[in-house]
Parts: sequence; structure tokens; C-alpha cells
Amino acid sequence: MTRLSFEFFPPRESDGVLKLMNNVVPKLQESKPEFYSVTYGAGGSTREGTFETVASLRSTGFDAAPHLSIGADSEETTVELLQRYQNIGVRRIVALRGDVPSGLGRSLRSANAEALVRLIRKNFGDYFHIEVAAYPEVHPDATNPESDLDYFAAKIAAGADSAITQYFYTPYAYFDFRERCEKRGITAPVYVGIMPITTVDSIVRFSAKAGADVPRWMLKKLESIASDENAVREFGCEVCIRLCEDLMAAGVPGFHFYTLNRWGATRRIVDALRFD
Ligand code: FAD
Repeated sequence: MTRLSFEFFPPRESDGVLKLMNNVVPKLQESKPEFYSVTYGAGGSTREGTFETVASLRSTGFDAAPHLSIGADSEETTVELLQRYQNIGVRRIVALRGDVPSGLGRSLRSANAEALVRLIRKNFGDYFHIEVAAYPEVHPDATNPESDLDYFAAKIAAGADSAITQYFYTPYAYFDFRERCEKRGITAPVYVGIMPITTVDSIVRFSAKAGADVPRWMLKKLESIASDENAVREFGCEVCIRLCEDLMAAGVPGFHFYTLNRWGATRRIVDALRFD
């Protein structure tokens, strides 16, 4: 079975959660995701927004997992928040270091995702299923691919159950990462993050920040059709469909879609795939 999950960010507007629940979730639910996840703003800026969105999804019967980053939060704040999630029945956490908001200084980065995984296991035992992030194209902070893999291995050794990748458009990056994990004896499933392309500006901006590579041929094509929104969307969907097909043929365990709180492109891609 190919696992599907869909990611949202906590809406900013006061009626945003309602709109998400009424307009987006029903469309995505038809694809039968195993769970939804809700991002956590750098430095705890969406602590309540993430909680509220997760709680709304759960109260309507959907499985929802909060992202939680330790980048700028104290251990006490983090444990308290985890307790609140436990109280509403959440069983899955996407555990991250997170990115530190500008102005807070780099020293806060001394706590990484491995520390968060340890903190969760120490305080909650095996109660939560813990997902962590993986970087087939190597995290921007890494000095080299092998030290990056050391940090990934440490998160799994600390008790993470599975991982979700940063998005990429070159399947070989994943195959190489998987081989390197196998050589290290890392057997945790690594689900593939898929970023549908909707506008040229946004994909270029996101990718530069996230350290994700948009291959030259894709960029050239996107630039040549940038003024035609529909053509960009269609090309973006085709690329993601082909990417998913190649990955499925190679036996990936599933996909996690960065939906950006929209359903159109995600549904278009998922509907084109034949799942077992
Ligand atoms: P870690 O795994 O702790 O570290 C990432 C890399 O930094 C390591 O691979 C390693 O190369 C280096 N590193 C780690 N520790 C050290 C150390 N002690 N010394 C030197 N180098 C080190 N961000 C958000 O703010 N909110 C979200 O909700 C969110 N959701 C995400 C979901 C997914 C699936 C992914 C892939 C990313 C998400 N991010 C999110 C982005 C993520 O927070 C950033 O990529 C962040 O920079 C790293 O977080 P991490 O958990 O991967 O960190």
C-alpha cells in the first residue's frame, strides 16, 4: 500500500481553518490520505494556530499530526505542548529542529531534531509515532553528504519511526539516499515529499530557501511559459506525475504532499497515479 499524507500550514485569517475544513479537506479526503499534517512556524509563531488546526481536523474525525520544532522553544514549552496534543488523542508528531526566525540568533540552533526525538521518547515513551525530516539532496547546513547522513542516522537511532523527505525533482537523489541509508543499516521507511508547482516565482523562492534543486531543463521550460499560469500548473503536474511514477516503480513506501492549503494540483497528481 502506498501511504499518502497531505500537509497544511495553519491559516492566518480568522475564518481560515473553517475555509480549509469546508473547501480543501473534502476534496483531498477523496484520495484517502492516512493523515494530514500541520506545519509549525519558526520560533513557535504558530503554536496556537497549529494546535487549533490539528484539533479541528481531529474533531471532524480526520487523523492529523502536528509538526513540532524545537528551534527556539524551551524543553518545558515543548513538553507542555506535547501533553496538550496527547490530551486530544494525537498519536503522531513530525519532529523537527525548525528554522530559527531572524533576530533570535544562531545559538538557539544548538538543539536539533535528534534532541527533540530524545525529549519525546524520554517523556512519552512509545506513545507517539515520530516522523523526522530527510534530505536526499543534502540539507543546506550540512558540510558534506555523509555528515548529513550522520545526523539523519542519529535521529532514527534516537527513536524516530519514519521520515519524510524535503522535495526534489530528480529521482536519482532519492535512490542514492536510500542506498546510503541501506549501507548504514537504516531501515526506517522514508516517504517522499512532493511539492506541486503552481507559480514559477514561488518554486524558485522556496527551493533556494530549502536547498531543493530545480533542474535546469525544468527551470528553462518554466521561465519560457511563466506568463501562462495554466501552462505552468499543467507542466508542474506532469513533472510530478512522472516523478511519482518513477519512484513508485522503484518501490517507495508513499508520498507526502506539500499542498500549500490548496487541493487542485495535489488531486490532479494523485488522481493520475495507480496505487496498489
Ligand atoms: P536536523 O535534522 O536537526 O538538522 C538538519 C541538518 O542540519 C542536519 O542534517 C545536519 O546537516 C545539520 N545539523 C544538525 N545538527 C547539527 C549540529 N549539532 N551541528 C552541525 N550541523 C548540524 N520547518 C519549520 O519551521 N516548520 C515546519 O513545520 C517544517 N516542516 C517540515 C517538514 C518536512 C517534511 C521537512 C523535510 C522540513 C520541514 N521544515 C519545517 C524545515 C526544517 O525545519 C528545516 O529544514 C530545518 O533547517 C532543519 O530541520 P531538521 O528537523 O531537518 O533538523
